[in-house]
Amino acid sequence: MGSQSETRRAFIDGIALPIDRLEPGLYCVATPIGNLQDITIRALKTLAAADVILCEDTRMTARLTEHYGITTPRMAYHEHNEASRAPAILKRLSEGQSVALVSDAGTPLISDPGFPLVSAAADTGVPVFTIPGPSAVVAALSVAGIGTDAFYFLGFLPTKEKAKAEAFQAIAAFPATLVCYEAPTRLLNTLQTALHELGDRQAVVARELTKRFEEIARGSLSALLEDFSARPKVKGEIVLLIERSVETKENREDLDGALRSALQAMSLKDAADMVSTALQLPRRDVYKRALALRDPND
Ligand code: SAM
Repeated sequence: MGSQSETRRAFIDGIALPIDRLEPGLYCVATPIGNLQDITIRALKTLAAADVILCEDTRMTARLTEHYGITTPRMAYHEHNEASRAPAILKRLSEGQSVALVSDAGTPLISDPGFPLVSAAADTGVPVFTIPGPSAVVAALSVAGIGTDAFYFLGFLPTKEKAKAEAFQAIAAFPATLVCYEAPTRLLNTLQTALHELGDRQAVVARELTKRFEEIARGSLSALLEDFSARPKVKGEIVLLIERSVETKENREDLDGALRSALQAMSLKDAADMVSTALQLPRRDVYKRALALRDPND
């Protein structure tokens, strides 16, 4: 391998890892979501042995590779060039090279670039290997303390208010924990929209996981909204988890009674809002039921 073998190296605390040749193919390598130590030995060896590392941001990945003494060439591969770069990368792969794909943090393709390349590689028969490791969605689920047997991952929610509300409506009755990624600047609005559309469910804000200011804030959506509204500024990276619909036969049966009395005291919209929050039922369903129950003479 000559000079190339000298570039194939990785160190943990100054101790060199043995680096074997890689089988040709595309390697999707998970990297830390904060703490640089959250990386597997196989990931380090793969990054060290690959012919090239495709990076969402080469400077961001340099922090990781420099920390472990890895000197593999890095190439930018991000959402703005992933289509144009794909043919050249496929050519390298078809020539028998080993290509590692990483994103800035966590697992590539999970709300990150890589899908067109993996899909094209699979279509053309290039082997695609996973080097599994951290992902914020799984890290958050593992500490949230709400149901993990079934979960629905929404990625990033739409930013426009109407589309966000519709996204929640569409999955309001799913029998699964809802998980999404959210920017700190949008957290309050998203908690508010979730409260409005889903009722006052239990939820968790998992913030800055594996980092210095890691925080797992648990509570009802309304309590979390109050808590985060009282802070001067919400910062950091966030996963929001919301408990599944706790719809039971009992709260369905309570619905008509609660709506009838609420409708005597307030507008249809206020009644639907109040009852959906109290019974933790999807607002849209409660609104529809309220419409059906409304006295036709009103
Ligand atoms: N591919 C990554 C993964 O596997 O988790 C996700 C990439 S996505 C562009 C970035 C989003 O993931 C952030 O906006 C945040 O919602 C979430 N995230 C990433 N790191 C996190 C962390 N340390 N704590 C909480 N959320 C995190």
